Amino acid sequence: MAVINKIIHSSVVDGPGNRAVIFLQGCNYQCLYCHNPETIGTCTLCGACIGHCPAGALRIYNGAMQWSEKICCGCDSCIQICPHLSSPRTKDYSAKQVMDAISGDIPFIRGITVSGGECSLQRDFVLELFRLAKEQKLSALADSNGSYDYTRDEELLQVCDGVMLDVKAFDQEAHMKLTGKDNKMVLKNAVFLAECGKLEEIRTVIVPDCLPNEDTVDRITKLLKPYLKERSIRYKLIAYRKFGVRPPYNDILRIPKPSEMERYKRIAENNGFDDVVII
Ligand code: SF4
Ligand code: SF4
Repeated sequence: MAVINKIIHSSVVDGPGNRAVIFLQGCNYQCLYCHNPETIGTCTLCGACIGHCPAGALRIYNGAMQWSEKICCGCDSCIQICPHLSSPRTKDYSAKQVMDAISGDIPFIRGITVSGGECSLQRDFVLELFRLAKEQKLSALADSNGSYDYTRDEELLQVCDGVMLDVKAFDQEAHMKLTGKDNKMVLKNAVFLAECGKLEEIRTVIVPDCLPNEDTVDRITKLLKPYLKERSIRYKLIAYRKFGVRPPYNDILRIPKPSEMERYKRIAENNGFDDVVII
């Protein structure tokens, strides 16, 4: 079983083609710019959200949160008030139940992507889900912050078609400041996954004046350049946006100008990357 924040039945921005995306609850990073901060934590059943729900869609019953999807108006008051970076709208699913939930999508999608939160925290569920996806001839991708040691999990990589890896900062100190964790495993994974042809994409959120963006783009593309001969690796440069970001960071962090994004794109291209996308 896994705690799922939500399932999106059709997405064209979470890997190649049209895909179903499963957002798992829980993350071991606490990025200042997180756009889905309600996926980071675990619900403690503190009850703080219940009185803030204008629809009366929440209650604690038999030691569990009950959310009535039917009467929920989607106002998001509950996730804004939650002091634990969680949501009362999560659900527990088995891998089979997720496949059942997306069964109607299968004729229209190329594959599935697990995202989050950090999907690798619920690794056994992901393994089972990917196995079931393969039985349906669907490709299976993981969107990961790179903190999990993929080098020691051949079993998972056998059923995973690729990892979309966040390279939030190349510099250790900057990564620590942003996420609360160092990036040694991220960089180890970047090289390992590129070596074995499982690095589907790398992505960096560009936040001017907060992160050493130029240093990150330059050094990660130089590090991965030798592997581009075997397989093209997409580099997605993501302009920081305020949407969903929690206070006070939503007021502190600056949105980059298009000219800044273009400059970083040129750095990656000059280092040999021919598939650089700005979003
Ligand atoms: S979702 Fe958040 S506010 Fe609501 S009960 Fe759980 S921890 Fe408390
Ligand atoms: S989004 Fe949350 S607060 Fe708003 S109606 Fe739904 S459960 Fe209630």
